[in-house]
Parts: sequence; C-alpha cells; structure tokens
Amino acid sequence: MALIVQKFGGTSVGDAERIRAVADHVARTRAAGNDVVVVVSAMGKSTDELIRLADEVSPNRPPREMDMLLTAGERISMALVSMALGARGVESASFTGSQAGIITDGDHTRAKILEMRPDRIREALDAGLVPVVAGFQGVSTERDITTLGRGGSDVTAVALAAALKADVCEIYTDVTGVFSADPRVVAKARRLPKINFDEMMEMAATGGRVLMLRSVEFARRHHVPLHVRSSFTWEPGTWIVEEDPTMEEATVTAVTDDTSEAKITLDGVPDRPGVAAQLFRALADAGVNVDMIVQNTGTNGLTAISFTVALTDLAEARAVCHAVKDQIGATSVETDDQIGRVSIIGAGMKSAPGVTALMFETLSDNGINIEMISTSSIRISCVVRSERVAEAVRCLHTAFGLDAA
Ligand code: ADP
Ligand code: ASP
Ligand code: MG
Repeated sequence: MALIVQKFGGTSVGDAERIRAVADHVARTRAAGNDVVVVVSAMGKSTDELIRLADEVSPNRPPREMDMLLTAGERISMALVSMALGARGVESASFTGSQAGIITDGDHTRAKILEMRPDRIREALDAGLVPVVAGFQGVSTERDITTLGRGGSDVTAVALAAALKADVCEIYTDVTGVFSADPRVVAKARRLPKINFDEMMEMAATGGRVLMLRSVEFARRHHVPLHVRSSFTWEPGTWIVEEDPTMEEATVTAVTDDTSEAKITLDGVPDRPGVAAQLFRALADAGVNVDMIVQNTGTNGLTAISFTVALTDLAEARAVCHAVKDQIGATSVETDDQIGRVSIIGAGMKSAPGVTALMFETLSDNGINIEMISTSSIRISCVVRSERVAEAVRCLHTAFGLDAA
C-alpha cells in the first residue's frame, strides 16, 4: 500500500462539478488500496479576485491582512472537497495549514517553511481518514497566519510528501504534464514523459509556472518523487527525475516565456568599486529580489547598470533607486515594464557548441531585438519586447527541433 499526496490546482477544483470529479479520483485511489493526503488550491481564480477586492478597499495591502484574506480561498475548497469525499463514502477531514503543522517564518505573503509537524495528518491517516489540507498557507512562529507565495500550494504538497515520507507527490493541473513550452503559447509543444530536476528548476525560474520553483527545490532536496498530471484526463503525465534523461537526446529540452518582470536602468553611474554594492544592498534591504543584471563597459569613467525585478516589486525598486541615485552619483533612473524574457533550457547544451549562435540567429531572422542576455550552464535567456515574446518562443521552439509532428 502506497502513501500518495495528491495536489489539485485552482482549475482542478474550479466548480462543483470539478470538485466531484476530484473526489471520484481520490475515492478510486483509496479503493485501489492506497493512503491519500489531498492538498487543494483556492477555487478557480478566487485568489486573484480576493486581491482585486483588497485593492478596491485600500490603496495599500497590509501583508498580515492579505494573508488572512487569501487563506480564506483554500479554506473554501478544502471543506468542499472533504464534503464531496464524504458523499462518496470516503471518510475525510479538512485541515488548515496551521492545523496541518506547517510552521513558517513571519515573512507575510512569501513565508518560508521552517518546520513540518504534521501530527494531526498522521493521526487522521491512522484513523483511516483522507486528510484534505489547505494549500499555500501556514502559521508563523509568532502564531500569525501566513502564505507561501503565489502558486504555493505546490510547496505545501511537496513539504507534506517529504514530512510523511510519501511514495509520490502527484500535482494535478489543467494540462497533461510538463511540456517543451507552455502549450497555451506553442500549439506544437510536446509533453515530456520525464524531465530532470536541473532543467525543471530552470523552467520554473524562467516562467514555466506549471510548478512553483520552491516546490521543485524542496522536492529535490528531500528526494520526493514528483509527477505532474492532468485532473481532466487522469492520464500519466511528467515525472521529475534525478537522472539526466537528455544525455542522448536533444540539446534543448524546453523554451519558456516570462512577462512578469520589468527592467530598471541607472545611467551615468561612476565606474568605481562599491557603487553596485551600494545599489544592490539598498534593494536587498527593501526585500526586492533582483534577477538579471547587466553592466555596460564604462566610457569616460561612467557606466550604465540595468537589472530586472518582478513587476510586483517595481514600485518599491523604483523608489529605492531614486533614493540612492544621488548617493551613488547616477544621472538617471529609467523603468520599463514592457519587457519579456524568452529562455531555452537543456542539460544537453553543456556539450553542444552553437546553441547560443542558433538562438541569436533565430531571433534576428525574425526581427526580434535582444535587449539583455543571461546564461547558466544549461540555460540561455534573452530579454526582448514583451509583445514579441510569444513569437520568440514559437520560432525558437521550431528552430531547436522541438515542434510535435
Ligand atoms: P494550477 O492552478 O493547477 O497550479 P497553474 O496555472 O499554476 O495551474 O499551472 C498550469 C499552467 O502552467 C498551464 O495551464 C500552462 O498554461 C502553464 N505552463 C507554462 N509553461 C508550461 C509548460 N512548459 N508545461 C506545461 N504547462 C505550462
Ligand atoms: N491559490 C494560491 C494562488 O493562486 C496558491 C496556489 O494556487 O497554489 O497563488
Ligand atoms: Mg500552480
């Protein structure tokens, strides 16, 4: 008998019919002799709707109250899924993140898990129940309710699977697995039967939102077998594996797109030691996460520094830059929220020359200008105009031979 954690995303529990379908599947898994722990997201787009509601009542979003508000979404779905299971004769009980023993730090809206104490979940399993846990939430050491960041139900599922030593963590979503590109952008994207952790982490970090990055990191660290699959067709999906399945295969495994960032450029910056340190220390102290950074070669002792931040951090980052501008002697701060990033990912590119050249040629042949470049040993990313991102993904997908026949 296996212990299976099954996580259902927003679309998968989007309405009563979907919740009944989920309950049917959980009941089938139980009937096959497995123990099941269910983790649910908020129904459909309800998290977005709650955020919109908050914006309507207040110009700012106090993080503690936002967490109180947003965790309500998962509370609704956990209770409904538990009731639907009951209606199928499957005994179950729902648990908030706090009741499930998910202890986090106090960094509201993006809390990190410090400790897992899933005693009540174990007790429920021992009593023959199916525990249904609200995803995306925990309780801080200060006893405040916290959330784990957007998409955080994936982290809840993986953390529970690790703590309970589950045999597999199944992530059910609205596509049939991890594809060679977002299937909503590239019609010819192919489902990957398996992908390794390195590649999956690069995908999750560059826009492949099918799995939240932190859940992939957590699964790798704790050796949790992850299986991404569809809650609509229930067919086998994509396994995230330790080994390198691309060894003998294509150089590039996937192409990702991301339009969730903005670019900030500081011009006329004195080209001397300590300037970048001052700027990025100020940003770090304000809690702004910086992604790509490019510094131009200096001329006449002056240089320009460009970097990207999440669109949601843009206002904060802009304020920090204006505050330190005079201190570091920059002449201007410019922001650009119309950028997008396209990335190619593949463990095979380590040993294949010409990948970068083909990427740049493909973009150039399609008249797409590259504004910034960053690389890792298994990824190349280019910043382009946001309106050209979808086209860039499609032509790179074709150029690297990834299109489905
Ligand atoms: P859930 O609510 O189930 O967590 P998400 O919206 O977070 O679902 O993630 C699933 C979505 O991720 C898909 O609908 C798909 O559009 C998107 N996606 C982006 N890149 C990929 C990819 N490479 N493979 C599969 N899905 C992807
Ligand atoms: N409901 C939360 C969100 O929309 C968490 C999740 O779905 O994973 O971000
Ligand atoms: Mg998700």
